Amino acid sequence: MKVFYNYLPNEFSDIEKILNDWQKLIKSSDFTLGKYVLDFENKFKKFLNVKHCISTNNGTDALILALKSLGIGPGDQVITVTNTFYATVGAIVAVGATPILIDCDERFQINVKRIEEAINIKTKAIIPVHWGGASPDMEAIMDISIKHNILVVEDACMGIGALVGQKAPGTFGKVNAFSMHPLKSLNVMGDGGMVVTNDDHLACWIKKYRNHGMIDRDHIEFWGVNMRLQPLQAIVASHRLDELNNTIEKRNFNAAYLDKNLRGLSENIQIPLRIKGNIETFALYMALFDKRDELKDFLISKGVEVKIHYPIPLHKQTAAQQDCLCSKDLKISEDQANKLLTIPVHQYLQIEHMQYVVEKIKEFYNI
Ligand SMILES: *Cc1c(COP(=O)(O)O)cnc(C)c1O
Repeated sequence: MKVFYNYLPNEFSDIEKILNDWQKLIKSSDFTLGKYVLDFENKFKKFLNVKHCISTNNGTDALILALKSLGIGPGDQVITVTNTFYATVGAIVAVGATPILIDCDERFQINVKRIEEAINIKTKAIIPVHWGGASPDMEAIMDISIKHNILVVEDACMGIGALVGQKAPGTFGKVNAFSMHPLKSLNVMGDGGMVVTNDDHLACWIKKYRNHGMIDRDHIEFWGVNMRLQPLQAIVASHRLDELNNTIEKRNFNAAYLDKNLRGLSENIQIPLRIKGNIETFALYMALFDKRDELKDFLISKGVEVKIHYPIPLHKQTAAQQDCLCSKDLKISEDQANKLLTIPVHQYLQIEHMQYVVEKIKEFYNI
């Protein structure tokens, strides 16, 4: 049996609806922002129940826009977690601020207990990451931000379709970012992103900055950049959004099967806690395994395409020596980097695939 990691060939096997809309777009030549981008932004706004959605080229741009709109730049420090994708930290460096990397917790999320000790007079913002599509303790983070008068910018790139209690990732912070990269829960055929905020003033600035600082064709208000979403991708995103509930439901079903059958099975396996009432996107289903590298090779040899996200925490990257300040104790993320494995649980996998995965893991540990 093959348990594929890549779901994209299945996802776009039926693209009639997308092609129909693409034809309309091509006839209209509405290729720069325009109706299709606006339609999708409005649809996403309703979906998230926020005041402003500004689509972007990708998630990294969305993070950069969010930070820039808040005036974060040289001399400022931004706290984030060391086990995230490069772009979280790259965006902080891109605006000229200094990333402060802190440890994660047992659920692979930013360690809320370590935030306050990293705060000082230069701290401008915290970027909590909804890593893997699960969420950190957003309530605790919001409390800390209020207590210390620090901004929150959520990196909800993997969190589209998740819930933290009743609220969606990306609706807690002041300005928040999403990605629609192929590996995220709402994905396009390439790159796409979104910035969301309830602040009218910031939204207005972000819209202009994304589009050269233009007020109209002949006037700019300030020097901006081009971070616009392609209308072709807005159409893909819009159709994918219609499928999102279904996608999340199926992934949760598969993940729950693995949770149930792997948790408590052996001392060699640690399944992260799930927070009651939260919904995860399972962009990454991660767990900790002893003899991880051998298990990885074994599973791949048996057709199960497992991955590691990631083998090197960001504070260990050469680039971090130059541009980042790191908390002294980053032990949890370092331990996890040696043990974690990502198992495919995407929406095109069936219960038989999950049973096969469990069977092979048991075989590996002689259970
Ligand atoms: C994917 C991702 C990004 C970057 O998004 P792109 O659309 O690839 O630029 C940033 N942060 C996290 C946590 C991500 O998973």
